Amino acid sequence: MSPRYPLMLDLSGRRAVVVGGGPVAARRVRGLLDADAEVVVVAPELCEDLAVMTGDAQVAWIPREYASGDLAGAWVVQTATGDVSTDAQVAADADAAGIWCVRASDATHSPAWTPATARVDDVTVAVSAGRDPRRARAIKDRIATQLETGELPVRRYRRPRNGHVALVGGGPGDPGLITARGRRLLADADVVVVDRLAPRALLAELDPGVEVVEAGKGPQAHTMTQMEINDLLVERARAGQQVVRLKGGDPFVFGRGGEEALACAEAGVPCEVVPGVTSAVAVPEVAGIPVTHRGVARQFTVVSAHTSRRGEEPDWEGLAGLEGTLVFLMGVSQLGEIVDGLLSHGRSPDTPVALVERGTLPEQRLTPGTLATIVDIAAAQDVRSPAVIVVGEVITLASQLASGDGRR
Ligand code: SAH
Repeated sequence: MSPRYPLMLDLSGRRAVVVGGGPVAARRVRGLLDADAEVVVVAPELCEDLAVMTGDAQVAWIPREYASGDLAGAWVVQTATGDVSTDAQVAADADAAGIWCVRASDATHSPAWTPATARVDDVTVAVSAGRDPRRARAIKDRIATQLETGELPVRRYRRPRNGHVALVGGGPGDPGLITARGRRLLADADVVVVDRLAPRALLAELDPGVEVVEAGKGPQAHTMTQMEINDLLVERARAGQQVVRLKGGDPFVFGRGGEEALACAEAGVPCEVVPGVTSAVAVPEVAGIPVTHRGVARQFTVVSAHTSRRGEEPDWEGLAGLEGTLVFLMGVSQLGEIVDGLLSHGRSPDTPVALVERGTLPEQRLTPGTLATIVDIAAAQDVRSPAVIVVGEVITLASQLASGDGRR
């Protein structure tokens, strides 16, 4: 058999005849209606789905058996009567009239086939697979899923659209922990402005033409100021680009995402925020520490230990008095102050403390201790940023819940 010739047809306003009134015919009618065709159904009786569709102004029903002449004016015909001789008659009439015919019952003798089809945004995927429709559907489904999740590049090279900024939470580092929405936007980006703690592995999957701008923000390296980042996002969107601001964790948890969203709003640039898995919850979690646990902790408090200006120190008295779990971010260099602040306001030296470095990444490490011991242990173990500091009784669950270091 010679290879089939694929073609996309503009059927809008054109006549398409469907012979047959069962569920297969109904599916064909639906597909034709999606393409805005003028559909004529020839069948003595209709199944329920088809009966509903004939309510559509674009569907006409001829309530009788097929007769030669029914194909007049048609561009395509689908025959799905379930009766081989009728289908053969329709196919022969179509052939004689130079009309493309799809025979549902007999693919071998069908001049035209309908492929398995998926539509994701403005992308249409049509698959035909060696006369095996189930196989074609399976392949089509797989491709559709990958398009939806952004695993396949969906970047547009001809852009009718306007520029747009997406503040995407990338999760704590493992590339599998970004949301499907975030990943899809990433696959469609022209430029990705990336933080040091964003899931770097995702950058390797970008189309080669995508520009990656390092915004830096390490403890030592402030590659770009926040103002410069805001300006860049606005400038690029105004130039018509799809901009993804890829951040670690969640964009609105100590990520300055709020400021970036405000800068976009002030500039009148459309901005979408895509939530992310925050390290405040996920990093303890993968180390076996639930931030809440029945009977142990019924609340948790997330605190930034980073104090850029005097007078912005955490409220130690308030924090020391809280029940539940305390989670400190950006706190490795401030560990001594955190411990002093809690101890001097009445927390017991026996309070469990855990440091989790590079959570969800292959180098993940859990360092446990207590308020009395953790500063010395951290120094001896050379604990470094990025790490989450967890304070509270929930830490005692870690040994039961996870191996503690490394990933499954
Ligand atoms: N928006 C981010 C937090 C930004 S502040 C979020 O929601 O997760 C940066 C701090 O997050 C780091 O100093 C560290 O305390 C923490 N952090 C981020 N990723 C981490 C990781 N993989 N392991 C441990 N801590 C992490």
